[in-house]
Amino acid sequence: MSTIAIHADWIFSLTSTPIPNGWLVAHEGVIEFLGRELPPRFQSVPIRKLPNTALLPGLINAHCHLEFSDMANPIEFHGSFIAWIQSVVRHRAQANGEESIERRRMAVARGIEESYRSGTRILFDTITAPWSPDWIQSPSIPQELASSPEVGILRHALTGLSRFYVVPIPETLDIHQSRGDETIAFARRVHEQMGEPKNRQSSPTSSSSIMPRLAISPHAPYTASRNLVRNWTAWSQSNHGLVSMHLAESREEMEWLAERAEPIESALGRFRDQAFARQSSTMQDYVDAMLEAWLGIIAHGNYLDESLLTNLSAHRNHVAIAHCPRTYRHFHPDRSTQNYPLAERLRRGVRHLVGTDSRASNPDLSVWSEMQTMLNYPGISGEEIIAMATREPADLLGLADFGTLAVGNRSLCTAIPLSGTLEQEDIYRSLLTVGKSAVPLESMIVES
Ligand SMILES: [Zn+2]
Repeated sequence: MSTIAIHADWIFSLTSTPIPNGWLVAHEGVIEFLGRELPPRFQSVPIRKLPNTALLPGLINAHCHLEFSDMANPIEFHGSFIAWIQSVVRHRAQANGEESIERRRMAVARGIEESYRSGTRILFDTITAPWSPDWIQSPSIPQELASSPEVGILRHALTGLSRFYVVPIPETLDIHQSRGDETIAFARRVHEQMGEPKNRQSSPTSSSSIMPRLAISPHAPYTASRNLVRNWTAWSQSNHGLVSMHLAESREEMEWLAERAEPIESALGRFRDQAFARQSSTMQDYVDAMLEAWLGIIAHGNYLDESLLTNLSAHRNHVAIAHCPRTYRHFHPDRSTQNYPLAERLRRGVRHLVGTDSRASNPDLSVWSEMQTMLNYPGISGEEIIAMATREPADLLGLADFGTLAVGNRSLCTAIPLSGTLEQEDIYRSLLTVGKSAVPLESMIVES
C-alpha cells in the first residue's frame, strides 16, 4: 500500500495556526490525516521523521517563461527596458531549425527540473513556438532522487501520479498581421493539444473542476492591441480559461501608452503595420479589458495607479497581479525594493501572486527566494508572503485541493529545511528567515 506518515517540526497548513511536532499521512498523493497525534489506524504505516523541517503547501509560480532557462546569467539591464527586450529577442533568434527546437526542449527541461528542485509544484509558463506538450509530460527525475524500490513507493505515496504541473500559456501578439496569424494559429494548436485526453493530466487534477485547462497570453500593450485582449477575454469566458498579460511593467511602457514616447515608439517602427499603429488604447482600456476575463493574471503591474488598483480590488475574485520581486529589482537597481508598496496594495484588496519571470531577468527560478526578497518590503506580514505562493493562487484559480494542507487535498508538499528555531512572534516571517531553501518533500524521503 502506498501510504506514508511524516513527522515534522512544523506543519504550515495555511488554514489554521501552524502545527508544532505534527503528523501528515499521505496515500497515493492525497492527505489522509493532519494533526498532533498519529491515530492508531496509521500506527503500522511506514514512518519518516524529519527533524529541523517545516512543511508547506506546494509552491505555485504564477508567471514564468521556461524557454529562457538555459541562460547562465540574466541579461544585463542598461537603463532601457525595450533595449533589454531586444536583447532577449536576439537570444531567442540565435539558433534556428532543428537546433532551435532541441535547444528549446533542453531549456524547458532544465527550467522544470530547477523549479521542481526548489519546491515549486505548479508553474504557469508563457510559451512561444516551437513547443510540444511532450516537453511537460514527464519532468526528468534528478539523479540523486532515483533510489530503492521501497523509497520509490514511499515517494509515490506523497506525489501520486505527477510531481509537477505546467500550465502552458501561449503568447500572442498582433503588432503585425502576419505575427498575429502565426501566434494565434500557434495558440489554437496548443489549445487543441491540451484538450487531447493524453495531455489532460497536465492539469493538476480532474477534481479541480475550475482549473483553467486552457490559457492565453496577449503579450504586452506595445505588441498586442486591446482588440486582441478583448477577443481572448471573450474566449476565456466561453472556455473558463485564463488570460495572462504583461501590463504596467516599466516606466517606458507607461510613457509610450500615454504619448507614444521614445524609446519604444522608434523600436516598434518596422515591426508594426498600419492597423496596429492606428490604435491608441490607454492603460485603463487594457485593465478594463483584463477585468472581462474569466480568470486574469496581470504580470508585474508595477505602475498601476490608484484608480486602476481600486478597480482590480473590486475584481479580486477573478483577477490578480503576479508580482516578480527579483525581476522588479533587476529593472529598478536605483529604487530599493524596500519601497515597493505591496502591503498597501494588499490592504486595498488587490490580490497578488508570486512569479519568478524568466532566467533572462532572474538568477534562478526559486519561488522561495522571491518570497524571501519580499521580507524587505515595509508593512508586510510573513503569512501574506507565504499565502501569495500557496493559498492565494489556488483560491483565485479554483484549485480546490491545492494551496492549503487539509484532509482530501493533494500531498504535493514543499519542505523547508530549517537553520534555526522558529520564533513564535511572527512565525511565518521567522520561517522565511530561518528556512534555508525549499525542496519537494519526497526528496527528503531516504532509506530508513
Ligand atoms: Zn514575463
